Amino acid sequence: MIQLIRGFKDILPGETELWKHIEKIATSLFEDFGFREIRIPIMEHTELFARSIGEDTDIVEKEMYTFPDRKGDLITLRPEATASIVRAYIQHKLYAADPVRKFYTIGPMFRRERPQKGRYRQFYQINAEAFGVGSAYIDAQLIFMLLTLFSRLSVTDAHAHVNSLGCPACRPAFKASLSQFLSSRSDKLCEDCRRRSAKNPLRVLDCKVPSCREAMSGAPSVIDSLCPECGKHFQILQDSLKKLNVDFTIDKSLVRGLDYYTRTTFEIQTGALGAQNAVAGGGRYDGLVKVLGGPDIPATGFAIGFDRLTEITGLKASDFEQKPDVFIAALGEKSQAAAFEWNCALAAAGVKAEIAFGDSSLKSQMKRADRVAAPFVLIVGEKELEDGAALLRNMATKEQVAVPLDKIVETLKAANR
Ligand code: AMP
Repeated sequence: MIQLIRGFKDILPGETELWKHIEKIATSLFEDFGFREIRIPIMEHTELFARSIGEDTDIVEKEMYTFPDRKGDLITLRPEATASIVRAYIQHKLYAADPVRKFYTIGPMFRRERPQKGRYRQFYQINAEAFGVGSAYIDAQLIFMLLTLFSRLSVTDAHAHVNSLGCPACRPAFKASLSQFLSSRSDKLCEDCRRRSAKNPLRVLDCKVPSCREAMSGAPSVIDSLCPECGKHFQILQDSLKKLNVDFTIDKSLVRGLDYYTRTTFEIQTGALGAQNAVAGGGRYDGLVKVLGGPDIPATGFAIGFDRLTEITGLKASDFEQKPDVFIAALGEKSQAAAFEWNCALAAAGVKAEIAFGDSSLKSQMKRADRVAAPFVLIVGEKELEDGAALLRNMATKEQVAVPLDKIVETLKAANR
């Protein structure tokens, strides 16, 4: 039997109800904050990700699903959504009338990572990105929006970690002190980091290899080299989070090793997921729109790990499971034909009905009605057809009432209003 690809997964009925509920809550909250939906393609030119995520990152070096299309152009299954949203913002000149634009999108991402609990090769993200605002207020607003979403989804164990990465003005001094630190530790770094420390020392800070993490303890922190402007920005972020009663921790290890990531960076972490403790991550990327060929416009955003969110929500899929409103138990060919017509007419009128689609005994049809948890069963046989009325049985009270055959759709429609 052909099985699905390693690291990929099916989301089955029984789970999809929870996913849809989360989508509904998230999109309505984001829209209240002024974000609008954007849908971007699953594939892009490889160069878009290489330039935006960075050539010497794990994602671009090792994890992308990249292949030549039939004409030989290199294309990649998207490993994240930000690059495509920035591309769309530039390509369609979405900044022309007003540079301030806020978008959200939900969809699958692809990274060829080592699969383990909470880490898949196709996983889903909920993204929100805001363009055209440099102020720290909007960073605080993004974090507040995330935590409001998590609380609406009954996530109890979620905590914000924040940091600042400075800007191109304060970074050279920081890079210099970091390089000095790295040269004293180079024998303890992994091969990738030894190579990266010459090219882009910032990258070493977010290496996930445990021995590198250990070697980096005591490394200089960007916060200590912030220029006055960046210091003020970070202060406003903290003050506004406090005003919003958001609990947060300043986490100096939260870095993104590329130059266009600036100032605010944050992560929402949880203790409920074991090793994969990040349920959402984000930050400011003021340099990226320009790097990708657009005007100099600041931007900030986040990505939530949707799969991980479904695992930590206090809501249960069973709370959203769909049940039929009525089961039609039909005996004999004529009744089955009538039941089939009612089934279609009821569904078209918004009443969920189920039928047996076959010749089976009343007992077995009642059993099936029980199994699908139908609150009502409409019973129809030769006698009911002759009498011109079917029996509607309330499965909880066991009461039965006669419903005229020509009133079935309207009676059940009224009962389910
Ligand atoms: P990133 O785009 O790497 O900043 O990731 C944002 C969020 O997506 C993370 O906090 C995770 O919750 C989630 N995520 C990233 N990679 C994976 C993966 N391979 N499987 C499941 N979730 C992931």
